[in-house]
Amino acid sequence: MAVTSADLIRAFGAIADRMTAERDALCALDGEIGDGDHGIGMALGFGAVREALDGLDGGASPTDVLNTAARSFLSSVGASTGPLYATALMRAAAAVKGKDGLEDADAAAIVAAMAEGIAHRGKAEIGQKTMLDAWGPAAEAAKSATGSFAQVLAAAAEAAHRGAEGTAGMQASMGRAARLGERSLGHRDPGAVSAAMIVGVLAETLG
Ligand SMILES: [Mg+2]
Repeated sequence: MAVTSADLIRAFGAIADRMTAERDALCALDGEIGDGDHGIGMALGFGAVREALDGLDGGASPTDVLNTAARSFLSSVGASTGPLYATALMRAAAAVKGKDGLEDADAAAIVAAMAEGIAHRGKAEIGQKTMLDAWGPAAEAAKSATGSFAQVLAAAAEAAHRGAEGTAGMQASMGRAARLGERSLGHRDPGAVSAAMIVGVLAETLG
């Protein structure tokens, strides 16, 4: 098998580290078009995920890991990104249900399930300048990529990064930034930027 529960737990730890390191930068980005708290929520949420996963026993399946991550993220981040990532992680958990470990094909299944969960929970569409503008392209790239778990995630990470950069050219039509109208142009969406970081860390740690 390509990826074990222990690998997933290690990846979530690396995501928590990255969100902590980028907390102030993400808050500054959010301050340009939102309320400036995005980095705080992401660092808090994934910090809680790491703590919850530390307490899991050795027999936990990938589905257990992802569901535990979903629950702990939601309980520490009640608003906005909380329900979105919780839904995304629960969809990912369901996508690999019954497996002891993950095979190459599961990389695309997980990224696609997360994107679908975020789109469904947020009632968002591509092009509205949200985190879906990173997760959506990541899912499309993952589904059309071939090769190992690592290769699929690398393609997803590249697409997520391009997607996040592309949000600078979008006018927000959803979320807090929508009230800015044209003034949201020229600023990247913080949720898309942190999403690209997450997919990037997954590619680095599970590759
Ligand atoms: Mg905010």
